[in-house]
Amino acid sequence: MTPLLEPKPGGLYCAEGDFFVDPVRAVKRAVITHGHSDHARAGHEQVLATAETIAIMEVRCGDDCAGIKQAARYGQTTTIGNVKVTLKPAGHILGSAQAVVERGAERIVVSGDYKRRRDPTCARFEPVECDVFISEATFGLPVFTHPPDTQEIAKLLHSIAVFPERAHLVGAYSLGKAQRIIALLREAGYDAPIFLHGAMVELCKLYERFGVRLGLLIPLTEAKNKIFSGSVVIAPPSVFGERWTRRLGDHVNSFASGWMRIRARARQQGIELPLIVSDHADWEELTATVEELRPRELWVTHGQEDALVHYSRSIGVPARPLSLKGYDETGEGEPETGTQATLFPLNANGGNGKDSGL
Ligand SMILES: [Zn+2]
Ligand SMILES: [Zn+2]
Repeated sequence: MTPLLEPKPGGLYCAEGDFFVDPVRAVKRAVITHGHSDHARAGHEQVLATAETIAIMEVRCGDDCAGIKQAARYGQTTTIGNVKVTLKPAGHILGSAQAVVERGAERIVVSGDYKRRRDPTCARFEPVECDVFISEATFGLPVFTHPPDTQEIAKLLHSIAVFPERAHLVGAYSLGKAQRIIALLREAGYDAPIFLHGAMVELCKLYERFGVRLGLLIPLTEAKNKIFSGSVVIAPPSVFGERWTRRLGDHVNSFASGWMRIRARARQQGIELPLIVSDHADWEELTATVEELRPRELWVTHGQEDALVHYSRSIGVPARPLSLKGYDETGEGEPETGTQATLFPLNANGGNGKDSGL
């Protein structure tokens, strides 16, 4: 019998349904787990995804990002040939889904990117029993433990209180992280206007449209003569050191990322206030998920594959690395790869560069 899913150069392929999950090049039919640009590429003839993911693709790549766009709700099953596809929440960003692929009694779960903890901007990860679980491993090393996000937001609020005369420039990737940081600030009671870099304005509006309350947001372009003392400005991390940031006057450089666990790296990049906030599972969440699901087999992709494969085998769950090409190993799924490469030239072997698996 043909395998239900198999790794191909274009991505994970289901021959029986003739579709790919998160293909890295344009295909006839694609199931898309979420809107990060390395998973949701433009140019497919047909796309199946959540309504949120389709809306994100439209904002980023235009209405003609795909031929036929089919939106599915969480839990809704779509039949493609002999195969059934159901999307379940992945807890990663707004609209992110695990693709549950079934043929008869056989079930493979492609989790896309995921995290297990609560996030006010998206539905929480739903564990699904399966034969094969495909897990990311962006932070698949024991050194990566993400503290509670409330604790990191408290650090930011404390810094704002201690330095009321300084602006706080918070680097956060435009899709997912920026909105989560804003929502967490609001939950913590911060109700002043938050200033936004142009890259995230439309995406914030989209989150609002889907019911995520972000409070008063002001695009920087509409704050021409503003004195930014004491204000929070959210921008993609690629802006650190750019000329326009002088407009902010004396300011604190902050960066919200799972990679901020590596303090030396943060210091080296001039990040005064590192915030360890990640939209990916940390080592604890990855291993707990494998133990909870105990699939017949674990397939690992994205990032630090080897350590999770080794761990999985050690608890009696057969595992294999998928080594899929074309996905952003830094885990932020954003096009600012130049910045990521310079910000995070670190991998498990201490080597450099994206190709070696950041
Ligand atoms: Zn992602
Ligand atoms: Zn990813």
